Amino acid sequence: MKRHALDNASPRVLTRPEHCLSRKRISPNALKVLYRLHRAGYLAYLVGGGVRDLLLGRDPKDFDIGTNARPEEVRRLFKNSRIIGRRFRLVHVFFRGEVVEVSTFRASPEPPEGPDDWKEGELEDREADAPDEPGPKAVREDNTYGTPEEDAWRRDLTINALFYDVSDFSIIDWVNGLEDLERGTIRMVGSPEKRFEEDPVRMMRALEYGVRMGFELEPETNAAIHACHALIAEAVPARLTYELMESLRSGYAAGIWEQWDRYGLLGKAFPELDLDCDRILPLLSCVDARVSGGARVADATTIAVLFLPEFSRLLAEMTSDGQRLANAEFLDRLRAMLEPATAHMMVSNQSFHQMYHGLFALTKMRRPPDRGRQVLKLTRHESFPVAWSLFEIGTEAGLLSGEARDAWSRAVDQVRKGPEGKAPEIVVDPVKRTRRRRRRRPRRREATS
Ligand code: ATP
Ligand code: MG
Repeated sequence: MKRHALDNASPRVLTRPEHCLSRKRISPNALKVLYRLHRAGYLAYLVGGGVRDLLLGRDPKDFDIGTNARPEEVRRLFKNSRIIGRRFRLVHVFFRGEVVEVSTFRASPEPPEGPDDWKEGELEDREADAPDEPGPKAVREDNTYGTPEEDAWRRDLTINALFYDVSDFSIIDWVNGLEDLERGTIRMVGSPEKRFEEDPVRMMRALEYGVRMGFELEPETNAAIHACHALIAEAVPARLTYELMESLRSGYAAGIWEQWDRYGLLGKAFPELDLDCDRILPLLSCVDARVSGGARVADATTIAVLFLPEFSRLLAEMTSDGQRLANAEFLDRLRAMLEPATAHMMVSNQSFHQMYHGLFALTKMRRPPDRGRQVLKLTRHESFPVAWSLFEIGTEAGLLSGEARDAWSRAVDQVRKGPEGKAPEIVVDPVKRTRRRRRRRPRRREATS
């Protein structure tokens, strides 16, 4: 049943027996929020990726909720909540180990200004009432908030615009998302070109979800990305960084980056990064394997991975002809390599610090450790977890020499298994040294008298 909204049509609705989305798969905290909103008389829908993933039988990353309650009303219902965001305000409800995001249905199809319009609090956490826009708040917000139908139509992909209504457990589809979900199709809500002009980051998202879901782009969306790809250069850097980080955490980074590169988005989105895909993609595949295996890979590690090809060139250049590495000069060059791109990407100082020292530690790991003290110093540095992951990823991908890997693994193992708080005795493999012959001092002539 194909319906077009905004022409007084009604949505396609699947009643509980007609779909497979079970409440048991929704987090108890998100359910609590949904029920409390519902009992207070508001509409309470599970929205976005949560519905999409549950219908596909996958585990959602998080659960977002849509409602007709205004942020202040939501705030009043949940003591453990906070209003965030500047232009468009939403509410974070805090539980142990989980944050449930509640947003009021929104009419505005305009592009977000910055990261805090979509994912408030992740890149930047601001209080709600920052005086950034003139005019009374109520007037501004009356134009912003909308009906569920409008809210569905301002979303990016049809498969991301489905609602699950907790009042009767039905699925509500205003944009034909169910059909696309069944067929495995990535389609923009509305006219793709218009939606990309409003917000070019949607091009990256369309390709990203195509890879993550294993879905095909429908021809109009595909053609529009080819036509509009250059617009990505105009997107706000913080939002690009957000999508970049999401891709790196997804377990599908290599596939996503390949697509971004193929459509000409990658170089235009991150011109300050030296992105040679032939060298980056094998590294990203190693990151993906870890993420898919359930390992938590720190953001500082994944961002530093992007610099590994440049780092290895720098290392080769500075040690060519058997030259000894001058630490101070290397650190200067390393900083110069990292600073412009990380500033543009709004990398936090803490992550920068870990990347910088983590990469520098790799220069020490080119050769087997020769002293226990060297191992202890390196492993006790706060950047060591980043350094070690980079070492493993870089050697696995064949970008860094793995010559010393076994020796370092053994040494690091000894530290890990050693007694806590005490300096363990590290036994390092004997390193062949060319023994310098001691020059004998001329014997003092003994006094004879
Ligand atoms: P996941 O969390 O698994 O990455 P998601 O679909 O939940 O997937 P989010 O980035 O969390 O993605 O965004 C939540 C929802 O907000 C999306 O499902 C989509 O409906 C909407 N959305 C996000 N970004 C945009 C955008 N740039 N334009 C329009 N709608 C968007
Ligand atoms: Mg989500």
